[in-house]
Amino acid sequence: DVFYRELPKVELHAHLNGSVSFETIEKLIGRKPHLNIEHGMTAIGKGQRRTLDECFQVFKVIHQLVDTEEDILMVATDVIKEFAADGVKYLELRSTPREEKSTGLTKKRYIETVIKAIQQCKNEGVDIDVRFLVAIDRRNGTEVAVETVKLAKEFMRSSDGLVVGIDLSGDPTVGHGKDLLPALQMAKNCGLKLSLHLSEIQSQLEESDLLLDLPPDRIGHGTFLHPEMGGSPSVFDKVVKNNIPLELCLTSNVKGQTVPSYSKHHFKYWYQLGHPSVICTDDKGVFCTDLSQEYQLAASTFGLSREAVWELSQQAIDCIFAPDAVKAAAQTEVD
Ligand code: 5GP
Repeated sequence: DVFYRELPKVELHAHLNGSVSFETIEKLIGRKPHLNIEHGMTAIGKGQRRTLDECFQVFKVIHQLVDTEEDILMVATDVIKEFAADGVKYLELRSTPREEKSTGLTKKRYIETVIKAIQQCKNEGVDIDVRFLVAIDRRNGTEVAVETVKLAKEFMRSSDGLVVGIDLSGDPTVGHGKDLLPALQMAKNCGLKLSLHLSEIQSQLEESDLLLDLPPDRIGHGTFLHPEMGGSPSVFDKVVKNNIPLELCLTSNVKGQTVPSYSKHHFKYWYQLGHPSVICTDDKGVFCTDLSQEYQLAASTFGLSREAVWELSQQAIDCIFAPDAVKAAAQTEVD
């Protein structure tokens, strides 16, 4: 539907390697035919579902395909242009810096390369403002988390405002947030914004309760934080009192089977409360979707009028991590 495509949109929850399109995967497979990777291994098509664990296997396959600076540059450039073509005007990309001994890739070069892609798109006049969140994979524990925050801090100073924050993601069944708390606190203290994946699975309530005391600036998924989804009064109060925006990814949660169906998605509870709820894609490549489609799905599932959809997309501007001047400019542009 052209309305959804033309709607000026803000994307706040997009993992770089989960956002790689079919076309870009095709190019990567062409570069690395010896890996014998096929499309069915990198994406979850219409009507298909996987367990969360299987979703994480998909990322491992994509990581094999994206292991040089050239790959990262191509992937980031393609992803940015695809979001722009879908009517996204402001994008916060997130990605976990990886070191690849076999290709000489370092974490620092990884971040530099993503920044280079952002700058190249800007120089080419692609109509989108892109920022970067450096991601911590929870699986890697305390030391790596601290190292990642230190890197992000360096880049926050040297990237001309492109690096704005930290993401905490990775397999929710592995590791515990308490081990990552010092790193996250350090990030907050030095002015990096925090977007944390919280309560993607039911058993994480205690961890969420702890991490909500930081408090984070935004929450990814937060599937089980609302009392209707089993959330405790304590976690619910912390989210509401601090008015922490939620990044909600409908197709991702349905295909990853953490929610049973679109109509049972927790979007409805938070939206009804008037709590800041931002529609996002999560991994548009892996889950075969785009942001227009996610808005359209939210509208058709929950009966939102065009005015309500417009308002929903405008409210997302309030939740961006770039400085207030950028917010104000974005607001004026859509007005
Ligand atoms: P990358 O950081 O390599 O650019 O993107 C892929 C990574 O993002 C995955 O390895 C995983 O750490 C994280 N990720 C992507 N989607 C999800 C999700 O739905 N939940 C969680 N917890 N992490 C995710």
